[in-house]
Amino acid sequence: MGQQGLLLQDVEELVASRRDAAAFPPALEERYERETGPRRARFLATIALRTALIYNLFLICEYLLAPDVFLLATILHLLVVTPWILIVAHVLPSVRAARWREILAASITVAIVAQVLAIYCLTDSSFATRYIYFAPVAFLTIASVQRLPAVYGVRLAALVFLMVAAASQVRGGMPAEIALANGMTFACIAGSIINSASLVWREQRRLYLLSVRDQLRAELSDSDANADALTGLGNRRYLDKRARALWEAAPMQVAAIIFDADHFKSFNDRYGHTRGDTCLKRIAACATAELRETSDVAIRLGGEEFLLLLVDTDAEVAEIVAERIRATIAALGIPHEGNPCGVVTSSFGVASASTRGATLESLIEAADAALYVAKSAGRNRTQRHDMLRQPAAA
Ligand code: GH3
Ligand code: MG
Ligand code: MG
Repeated sequence: MGQQGLLLQDVEELVASRRDAAAFPPALEERYERETGPRRARFLATIALRTALIYNLFLICEYLLAPDVFLLATILHLLVVTPWILIVAHVLPSVRAARWREILAASITVAIVAQVLAIYCLTDSSFATRYIYFAPVAFLTIASVQRLPAVYGVRLAALVFLMVAAASQVRGGMPAEIALANGMTFACIAGSIINSASLVWREQRRLYLLSVRDQLRAELSDSDANADALTGLGNRRYLDKRARALWEAAPMQVAAIIFDADHFKSFNDRYGHTRGDTCLKRIAACATAELRETSDVAIRLGGEEFLLLLVDTDAEVAEIVAERIRATIAALGIPHEGNPCGVVTSSFGVASASTRGATLESLIEAADAALYVAKSAGRNRTQRHDMLRQPAAA
């Protein structure tokens, strides 16, 4: 709950600051990646498969525009580039790191562009100046569907630009005016595609930010409503909820431990309410330290009185747990002159019953009766109630 509170604070600040959703604090970035990364990887894998299909349809264009090297083009298509795209599609869903996921997706464009440029450099076709358009078109089409984050989109565009420029140099013969016009056209379209992909990407992150904020707010207000403000233990409302769930589940043995700080009124009178509060927090912590976090329940019933519910636990084991908590509280050594022990102590009542044999109320009543005995017998002790010998009171 503490961590959630911290995360919510980060998220609220981010939303309020209207800062760029491109940069999340590390904990939030990690959560974003965990929750959205697998979906993005599956999306890119699907796009890769479609790309493979469309890419190979372009063999028709290879045949029409560069017939002299069609055999080589087919080999590159079917034995180099397509297998690479299929490998990428296959491994993408299992890639954990966001960086490698985007780089792998971008590598598809690089492979296709490299193939086109290889053929461009080797063909003697008079259509070569038309053929080279496939390189930027491959980038522009794939980048617009992949929606690469801007940081990858810009680098990929620059790489494609350099590859095309290098191939033009190698092959030669492209008039400078055409090269310049082509370069400028490519830069403009690439810029606008990267920009719109980046806007979508930021918008998605912003929507995610708002959804996390609402989710965290709801979780936190729910846990606030279930928690005792002083000790952080559950409150009576939480007890009702958990008890209902326990009693509705399959039959099981549940132990109740009720404990109450000894002579606590006089502690407050002597040391003040603030130190009394601190003392109650430390007592509560002693109890939770002995519980199983996921299954057991710790409740502050009110004042200096607490209830613990231990699932699948009989009275003997519950008594051992109670004794351990009792000893830990005494060992804190919090001075208490009004207590004959000289330190803060607590008294414990223990009972256990099957959820089919007793109601929560009868179980608590039995533990409470045992606590009363422990108090009467001198305090700072644990008393067990044997419910079997005294059938559950209705
Ligand atoms: P006993 O050993 O019989 O339990 O004696 P006691 O003094 O603990 O019992 P009593 O019920 O007479 O008094 C309980 C006291 O607990 C009263 C009040 O001063 C204190 N108390 C109850 N709730 C709180 C709280 O939230 N904070 C603090 N500091 N004290 C509390
Ligand atoms: Mg008391
Ligand atoms: Mg009391």
